Amino acid sequence: MKRSYDVVVVGAGPAGSMSALHAAKGGASVLLLEKDRDIGWPVRCAEGVGIESMKGVVDIRPEWITNRIDRFRIIAPNGIAGEPDIDKVDPDIGGRGYILNRRLFDYDLAMMAVEAGADLRTKAYVHGLLKSNGSIEGVNVRVQHREYQIKAKIIIGADGVESRVGKWAGIDTTTNFEFMASAAQMTLAKIDIEPDLCEFYVGSRYAPGGYFWIFPKGPHEANVGCAVDPKRSKTKKAIDFVWDFVEDKFPDAAIMSTVAGGIPAEPTLETIVKENVLLVGDAAHQANPFNGGGIASGMKAGIIAGKVAAEAIKTGSLKALNSYPKQWNKLLGRKHRMLFRLASTIYSLSDETYNKVGDILADLPPEKLTLRHLIQAVLLHKPSLLKDLFIFGRF
Ligand SMILES: Cc1cc2nc3c(=O)[nH]c(=O)nc-3n(C[C@H](O)[C@H](O)[C@H](O)COP(=O)(O)OP(=O)(O)OC[C@H]3O[C@@H](n4cnc5c(N)ncnc54)[C@H](O)[C@@H]3O)c2cc1C
Repeated sequence: MKRSYDVVVVGAGPAGSMSALHAAKGGASVLLLEKDRDIGWPVRCAEGVGIESMKGVVDIRPEWITNRIDRFRIIAPNGIAGEPDIDKVDPDIGGRGYILNRRLFDYDLAMMAVEAGADLRTKAYVHGLLKSNGSIEGVNVRVQHREYQIKAKIIIGADGVESRVGKWAGIDTTTNFEFMASAAQMTLAKIDIEPDLCEFYVGSRYAPGGYFWIFPKGPHEANVGCAVDPKRSKTKKAIDFVWDFVEDKFPDAAIMSTVAGGIPAEPTLETIVKENVLLVGDAAHQANPFNGGGIASGMKAGIIAGKVAAEAIKTGSLKALNSYPKQWNKLLGRKHRMLFRLASTIYSLSDETYNKVGDILADLPPEKLTLRHLIQAVLLHKPSLLKDLFIFGRF
C-alpha cells in the first residue's frame, strides 16, 4: 500500500466501490478501505433493486440475480390485498425488480474498482482524518492492527449509515431520529411462496409508520422484514415485529439469518461536499425515503462523486467537486425530497384510513391501480398531501 493517493474512499459498499471505480477510470490513483474482513458480508439488506433504477448504473451479471420480481401486492390492515399494475408504478417507488445476491454483488463491484486500478484493503478501519493547519490531508487507518497515515487529495466517505467521515470533516451529519427508520429482517427457508411476487403489509400490526416486506429469493426462500417508525412502534422493536410475523405466517420456517439496522428515511444531507471531502450513499442519506432502498441511489451518487473527483485531480482544482451536489440534486436529490413528503403522509395513515384507501383501490380494475390512483385515494382522506405534491410539481 502506498502512503499517498489522489483519492481515498472509506467503505466498500455499493456507493464506495462505484466511487472508487469511476475515480480510477478517470485516471486518479485510488485507495478503497473497508473495515470488515469480507466485502459484501454480513448482508444487512433485503437485496431488492428495481430493474429500471439500475439502468445505466452497471451491467447486471446473471450470477448477481437470485430471483426476478414481476408482481407486487399491498396488503391493508384488514387483509384486503391490491396488486397494482407493476409497469405503471414510478420506478423510484417500485416496479419490476431483482433480488440480488449482495454478497457476490458487493464483492464484484469492489473487484471492478480494483480491475480499474484502485488499491483495496479489507480489515482497514479508518478512525480519523489526517489534518494539518486546518486542512484535511488524508486518513488515519488501522489495517490488521497496524497504524498508517495515508495522504489523500480527496476523501470520499462511503461509510454507511453510521458514517463518521462527514462529522470528522465538520459536516453536519446529525440524523434526525424522528426520521431514522428502524429495520430488521430474517432470511427464511422451508416456506412456500409465489417466487415472482413481492408483498408489502401496511398498518400498526406488522409495521407501524412503515411497511413489512416479503422479498422472495425463490419458491421456498425469502427475505422477510420491516422498517418501522420507532415513535409509533413505541417499546416494541423492529425485530419483535418480524418474530411475530414469522410465528403468524411461517411458523415452520427455517431462520437462516437475522439482521437489524437503521435506514435514514429522510432527504439527502444539506452538505455532501466540503472542501476535499465528499459523502456518498447512506453516509449522505441518499437512500430513497419512500421505500428505504439505497443500493441504486448510492451507486448513482458514487458514479457522480468518482467522476468529479477524477476531474478535480485532472484539473488540479477542487472546484470540480462542487458539481457533485448539483448533479445529485438534478438526478435524485430533488425527487427524494418529494418522496420524503409523500412517505411522511402515507406511512402516518391510520389503520382505518389504510382500509378505506384499500377499499377504493380494490374496486378499481388492475390497469387503473397506478401510483396516480393511489395518491388520489389517499388525497380523499389526507388533503394536506396535495400541498406537498404541488410544491414538487410531480405526478
Ligand atoms: C434491513 C435492511 C434492508 C434493506 N433492504 C434494502 C433493499 O432491499 N434494497 C435497497 O436498495 N436497499 C436496502 N437497504 C438499504 C441498503 O442496504 C443501503 O442503502 C446500502 O447498502 C447503502 O450502500 P452504501 O455503500 O452507502 O453503504 P453500505 O452498504 O452500508 O457500506 C458501507 C461500508 O463502509 C464500511 N465502513 C463503515 N465505517 C468504516 C470505517 N470507519 N472504515 C472503513 N470502512 C468502514 C462498512 O463496513 C460497509 O462495508 C436495506 C437496509 C436495511 C437495514
